[in-house]
Amino acid sequence: MLPKDLIDKYKNWKENSFAQEKDHFERLAREGQSPKYMIISCVDSRVDPNAIFKSKAGEMLVHRNIANIVPPYSQLTEHSGTIAAIEFGVTALNIKNIIIIGHSGCGGIKNGYHMCHENNFDDNSSISNWLKLLKPVYDNISGEGNDEKVKYMEKESIIVSLENLSKYPFINTEVKSGGITLYGVWNDIGSGSIETYDFEKKKFDLI
Ligand SMILES: [Zn+2]
Repeated sequence: MLPKDLIDKYKNWKENSFAQEKDHFERLAREGQSPKYMIISCVDSRVDPNAIFKSKAGEMLVHRNIANIVPPYSQLTEHSGTIAAIEFGVTALNIKNIIIIGHSGCGGIKNGYHMCHENNFDDNSSISNWLKLLKPVYDNISGEGNDEKVKYMEKESIIVSLENLSKYPFINTEVKSGGITLYGVWNDIGSGSIETYDFEKKKFDLI
């Protein structure tokens, strides 16, 4: 049996939110999904893409991993989960908009930064193997002191992930022709604000 608080929340959802959108859910069940957006977000429980964009079921394909990293396509076998989700979104669901969402106070980025800084990786840890993907980001980092560098890394990592994404074989030509658009977003948890990446100015701007 599920914990009681979850059962209560579920019943509330079923009787209210679901009941109000019953037709919508029936249509989704009948016709399948065709989400307009794919989101790659951190697993952090404080960041909820569906809440930020107040989305309905079926609107956004959300994939979450630690520190919202998109691995280089060459990591196809090592980190297949994220790459497979992206391939599914683009080739099976024909999604044309992919958004990477990073956030303030990211524990994954902070841990990855320190692993890189101390060159202390553990081959027996999945987290360590995953966060090793931040090494190229760390190698190009700027800023003064660890805290500032970690903050810098939160955004720089999004930019590197966007670069990796743009080189995926099923995305590359589509991005060049304008068929697929990539977006980078950084969410400040405490203020609720979001910044988006401007590819021309090469910086994040508040919206
Ligand atoms: Zn995070």
